[in-house]
Amino acid sequence: MDISEKKLIIAIDGHSSCGKSTVAKDLAKKINYTYIDSGAMYRVVTLFAMRNNLISSDVVDENKLAHHIDQVSISFKYNNEKQRHETYLNGELVEDEIRSLDVSNNVSLIATIKFVREKMVAFQRELSKAGGVIMDGRDIGTVVFPNAELKIFMTADVEVRAIRRFKELKEKGEDVSLDAIRENVQKRDYIDENRDESPLRKADDAIVLNNSNLTPAEQLDWIVERMNEIK
Ligand code: C5P
Repeated sequence: MDISEKKLIIAIDGHSSCGKSTVAKDLAKKINYTYIDSGAMYRVVTLFAMRNNLISSDVVDENKLAHHIDQVSISFKYNNEKQRHETYLNGELVEDEIRSLDVSNNVSLIATIKFVREKMVAFQRELSKAGGVIMDGRDIGTVVFPNAELKIFMTADVEVRAIRRFKELKEKGEDVSLDAIRENVQKRDYIDENRDESPLRKADDAIVLNNSNLTPAEQLDWIVERMNEIK
């Protein structure tokens, strides 16, 4: 039976801005799997909290957020014209807004909150019920799918990651500095690795991919090779 028919779960975790979603999307296309962006979910909750003034000076009003979290409905659609996956908050397209530096600067704080994580994890499992899924995030191989058939832990040098993200945001027309991006990437890694709830760490059975010196095509080939090794 080939991989497409096996309907496996592939977990891709790792540091911020190291290209997890790029390789996850490329792979999903290649083997006809569903791509699920778990980070987008935390970004949507963050946008919701920001719009409702529930975050100020790095402090979240957790009581109010807990009270309103059931008003947050997240959905995804593939836009054929733009050839991209798009994220919706209560039916509103928010794909570009959730990628802004403003949201990036608050998202790791929101992702430390236990009830937020529980809700997101439940949603991630629900969306993956049929299998044949590639999901990227921070706790996919450790918490969401500890039995995933393939687990990749991705990383890259911080400078390489900052430059990649800088170019990406500049191309979208966002007015950002490389220093601000580097600071954001390092801060998110720090919060993600040091939080109490589901901290970012490599699962014991994950394979490390450092893509500092790899092109997207090379990293895709590398993952396909790992996949072909699955018994
Ligand atoms: O993957 P992305 O960079 O879009 O994720 C945004 C943020 O959401 C991360 O910096 C992390 O704080 C949080 N996150 C998480 N667990 C996941 C996915 C993302 O804590 N599974």
